[in-house]
Amino acid sequence: MKKTLFACIAALSVGAAWADYPEKPVTIVVPFAAGGPTDKVARDLAEALRKPLNATIVIENVGGAGGTLGATKVSKASPDGYTLLLHHIGMATSPSLYRNLQYKTLDDFEYLGLINEVPMTIISRPTLPASSYAELAKWIDGNKGKINLANAGLGSASHLCGLLYQSTLKTDMTTVPYKGTGPAMTDLIGGQVDIMCDQTTNTTSQIESGKVKAFAVTTPKRLGGGLAKLPTLDEAGLKGFNVTIWHGLYAPKGTPKPVLDKINTALKTALKDADFHKREEALGAVIVTDARVNPADHKKFVEAEINKWGPVIKAAGQYAD
Ligand code: ASP
Repeated sequence: MKKTLFACIAALSVGAAWADYPEKPVTIVVPFAAGGPTDKVARDLAEALRKPLNATIVIENVGGAGGTLGATKVSKASPDGYTLLLHHIGMATSPSLYRNLQYKTLDDFEYLGLINEVPMTIISRPTLPASSYAELAKWIDGNKGKINLANAGLGSASHLCGLLYQSTLKTDMTTVPYKGTGPAMTDLIGGQVDIMCDQTTNTTSQIESGKVKAFAVTTPKRLGGGLAKLPTLDEAGLKGFNVTIWHGLYAPKGTPKPVLDKINTALKTALKDADFHKREEALGAVIVTDARVNPADHKKFVEAEINKWGPVIKAAGQYAD
């Protein structure tokens, strides 16, 4: 009885101590360079989250090592709700790729909810001499050993897609890692690298303005809008090819429950924001439904993704120390 009373008082005082959260700006760490697709989602979300969370939101780009540097930083940050992480599928691929990951993906974070799902596209420098997927396939065949493939480092979405693409084609390309696909896109447009697989949130406007060439989408179904003419890789002959990127929001382990609840509630509201929807959907992203914006389902989903991609990555023989 005494113990229960003590537990109730303790819980009440934790709640009271955090009742005024947030009292200062909240930082969302993006584990990739500014100007890329994860950065774009984070900046769009910050815009929608500002009101419901009643806070100024600052984006901090901590790129490098396929997103693991930024994730490490947040795993070690003070668990007070003022440092969050917005990460993508790399949260689930890095445990299989990095032997010495500085955090435990399932133990060192609080899961706040999923945000969206985004298809990817196979794109090339504008000068690559191909204008259909069949022509690209022929060009790849004729240039074995000479092709550069840009990515955002081991464990990034572009790495994962490129890995699957090369193993399906049984072709090795020279990978060129960047701190994010924002800077990689600049080099692709400039012709310093040949090919990239990247989220539509980064590629749609570059494809539509003709700054890069686009050949296929990585999802099982064709996309709508301006990208509807692109075949799926499955249609193009790479049977069963399917890579869809998702984003989620995290806090360091030990962040108090009342703070997590406030962020989760604000996140749910932000994900219904009409402008956020418009901006994301125009770039091919699909916002998740309310049911997936909860900690338990988010964590279960990441665990399932770790188990899904682990064997694929192992089979490709990729890892880093
Ligand atoms: N799209 C990148 C990736 O390949 C990351 C980024 O720059 O947002 O993971």
